[in-house]
Amino acid sequence: MKKSARNPELATATERNPRWASVLARDPGADGKFYYSVRTTGVYCRPSCAARPARPENVQFHTTREEAEQAGFRRWPSSMQPRLRKSAASSITRKPCPISISWRRTPA
Ligand SMILES: [Zn+2]
Repeated sequence: MKKSARNPELATATERNPRWASVLARDPGADGKFYYSVRTTGVYCRPSCAARPARPENVQFHTTREEAEQAGFRRWPSSMQPRLRKSAASSITRKPCPISISWRRTPA
């Protein structure tokens, strides 16, 4: 197996999807309309998540949270609650959303 298999076809399919533009733009207006997940991390998130964009070939789109969870992805609580109060947010928002972390630190 290649360590970092690039899949141009999957990447192109993602890049052609209008939802991907919303993710890149972190469009708050897209929140609730769909979710996206990253295969390499097993996490799904909302379009306006502050995480840096994942590689398009690892991205999948889901219409609902249920759909994403049935596909085996888990949510990141602090990302899903944009209106957390400071006191409640302090402990978890310090952890960056992991949705696109592991592609930078690829496990051996
Ligand atoms: Zn997130």
